Amino acid sequence: MSHFIDVILPVPLEKLFTYGITQAESEFLKPGMRVAVPFGKSKIYTGLVFAIHQQQPLAYEAKDIHQILDEAPIITQNQLAHWQWIANYYLCTLGDVLRAALPNSFLLESEAVITKNDDKVINESDLRDDEFLVYEALHHQSSLKLHDLVNILDKKNVLSVINSLLEKEAILLQEEVYEKYKPKLVRYVKLNSQYSAADKLQELLEELSRAPKQRDVIMTLFSISARTKKPVKVSDLIETSGASSSIVKTLIDKLILEEYYFQEDRINYSGDDNEASKTLNIYQEKALEEIKQSFDAFNITLLHGVTSSGKTEVYVKLIEEVIAQGKQVLYLLPEIALTTQLVSRLETYFGGNVSVYHSKYSSHERLELWNNVLHNQPKAQIVLGARSSIFLPFQNLGLVIVDEEHETSFKQFDPAPRYHARDAAIVLASLFKSKTLLGSATPSLETYYNVKQGKYGLVEISHRYNNVLMPDIELVDIKDKQKRKRMTGHFSDRLIEEMTATLKEGHQIILFQNRRGFSPIVECVTCGHSPQCPNCDVSLTYHQYKNELRCHYCGYYTVMLKNCMACGSVELDNKGFGTEQVEEEAQALFPEYKVARMDLDTTRGKFGFDKLITAFEQNEIDILVGTQMLTKGLDFRNVKLVGIMNADNMLNFPDFRAHERSFQLMMQVSGRAGRTDERGKVLIQTYNPHHKILQQVSTNNYVEMYAEQMDERHNFKYPPIYRLIKITLRHKDFNIVNIGAEWYATALKQVFKSNVLGPEFPPISRIRNQFHKNILIKIPQQQSLSKTKKAIVKINNSFLSIKEFRLVRVILNVDNY
Ligand code: ADP
Ligand code: ZN
Ligand code: ZN
Repeated sequence: MSHFIDVILPVPLEKLFTYGITQAESEFLKPGMRVAVPFGKSKIYTGLVFAIHQQQPLAYEAKDIHQILDEAPIITQNQLAHWQWIANYYLCTLGDVLRAALPNSFLLESEAVITKNDDKVINESDLRDDEFLVYEALHHQSSLKLHDLVNILDKKNVLSVINSLLEKEAILLQEEVYEKYKPKLVRYVKLNSQYSAADKLQELLEELSRAPKQRDVIMTLFSISARTKKPVKVSDLIETSGASSSIVKTLIDKLILEEYYFQEDRINYSGDDNEASKTLNIYQEKALEEIKQSFDAFNITLLHGVTSSGKTEVYVKLIEEVIAQGKQVLYLLPEIALTTQLVSRLETYFGGNVSVYHSKYSSHERLELWNNVLHNQPKAQIVLGARSSIFLPFQNLGLVIVDEEHETSFKQFDPAPRYHARDAAIVLASLFKSKTLLGSATPSLETYYNVKQGKYGLVEISHRYNNVLMPDIELVDIKDKQKRKRMTGHFSDRLIEEMTATLKEGHQIILFQNRRGFSPIVECVTCGHSPQCPNCDVSLTYHQYKNELRCHYCGYYTVMLKNCMACGSVELDNKGFGTEQVEEEAQALFPEYKVARMDLDTTRGKFGFDKLITAFEQNEIDILVGTQMLTKGLDFRNVKLVGIMNADNMLNFPDFRAHERSFQLMMQVSGRAGRTDERGKVLIQTYNPHHKILQQVSTNNYVEMYAEQMDERHNFKYPPIYRLIKITLRHKDFNIVNIGAEWYATALKQVFKSNVLGPEFPPISRIRNQFHKNILIKIPQQQSLSKTKKAIVKINNSFLSIKEFRLVRVILNVDNY
């Protein structure tokens, strides 16, 4: 009797590959273990055992595996089930999912390059003979490829040696050579050890009685460390004692204090000095009870709480209950919101039980966390992570929290799997028969729709914590201001007035300028009108090359206008202004204040973002100019004024979600104003103060926004009423893409009729010398999703079997919004 395994390989193959194994191997192997297998002529891949069986493949002769790499599965049964759901739902292969899910160092392949890890001192007697040979070789040669190792060790099965060397941190995989790990260092102080004896300390304090300010600092240091039982940050010491930094410096110079540095995210908490979580106020308490009740009836519940209502503290209480039962918690956040702010907040409560997972972590860090989750270690009982943390090997997942659930960055666009982490997390929770809590101040329409449909429960908090008032939102009509010459650059006189007053009081300001998409839209300089597509209700994009306005959803086009359709003005503008310009103008207006800018350019690197946040928190910046990044759940105490420079370029963005997104963005940015006792102020500059969305923002009317937007989605057949699948064809030859897309769309139209839109070139149709063309399929509610997908896959397969189209890349994107 022969034995076989089906293996998932980290390559986008439609089918699993079958390999031969021995009887003994078949008894040892379990799904979820890794094996090294030959592939193609000379490649070796790490694959994952999916199934063990006795059916010989019909189409080819099964090769034998090289080696078994694990003693026990590194992937759980639930993960395999989850991966299958992802592959089916998002129309990708299990290989795609495998690649996205596993830390790179799990997936050694023949192309991998290894180097010596110079940061780690290795005791060579800890190495086995074969490990030592490899390690030794790396002293003479800076890097080695897998086939070099085959020669050095004179055997084929080298992956296990590499694995154990990686585990011992003796070597690095190539990707890490390129990673510039620049940890952010935080400055701490402690009393010089010569004063640790009581009599020495007494002497010191007496000596300092002539320098009361210095004495104060020392006393404050004691009280902080007594209270927190943690290392004391210089910034905390200065803030609490009210002393200047020069006094602290004097103490350091006099060798009374000793300064030292820690990496903010690497401090190890000892676990037993956690702070008790906060007592909830009545609104939070009520919400907590309602969530628990809601979980009796629903697997998924939405917590809709206004900004600063204290949602995090409610999550904390739920987490406490779940971990007390010994279960694991996944707390999902958009990547950018994973700041030290939130991380350290949770660490004060859960210290040693929290681990953080995001894409900027090195593969060592990720591997470590993976193993901690897999072995149900207390250290990783709560995982705080960005979207890819849905792939971790949870054993005993008791609760999923998706904070800021409306954030579009939960959706992965490239490469496959093109999954939405919120939706995939819900499925993951259900595999564990656990609950999911979605949280937002501005829920996505699809989530709120699910509430209205009776699929999700709903719990609301409409009071801000401490009864802080919602900010006062004022709309500034810049069309009128321009007419009356009250603009200085992009700043209205109202904004300048409010800024002046805020700065005088010593408060901080956030100025928000939307990051413009790469599709240029046309805007009338006089009235702000932007030409719309008659079929799709989105702004048309300007195509300079043909001097046309086009809709990239339905393909509608018209020649570029000479006059504004609304007011007739000839001044039509297709350039926007960015954060850089706002920063410059703000600095020119307020030269004596510190202005900084937060956008993609200024936040590169692992800690770029945190650095700016910390500087702003510590009042080193007075005016912070930023993009979308500013909206992500940040909690600044001292911000009193938020200025939105131009609401119209958000509202006119050519996307069916532009209005929903604008509402969410403006509400979220506004939420940064006045989070403590003083009421915040928000100024929104716009050409269209009567725009419904702006009215809804200024009155904080989510429900009205929802109702109106849903009407539009009905009328124009968009999600959540219809589902969308986008198909993109890509090839370097323009003609092949064109003909292929026609063929594809025609085939689809035979099945789906008028619910197929396009093919249409996107605004940027050539990227890296590849032409792109899109087809959009709208799926009505009564139409079976799985049948629809089957039909698409069938058409896709026929398409790719046509000789001239074989090299066309087809990208299937389910729920592409
Ligand atoms: P949200 O996430 O809803 O915007 P947060 O959870 O950030 O709100 O809470 C806003 C602020 O109020 C935070 O600074 C938080 O520490 C504080 N806060 C919330 N709930 C409590 C509580 N029960 N006791 C003390 N402070 C609280
Ligand atoms: Zn259109
Ligand atoms: Zn006009």
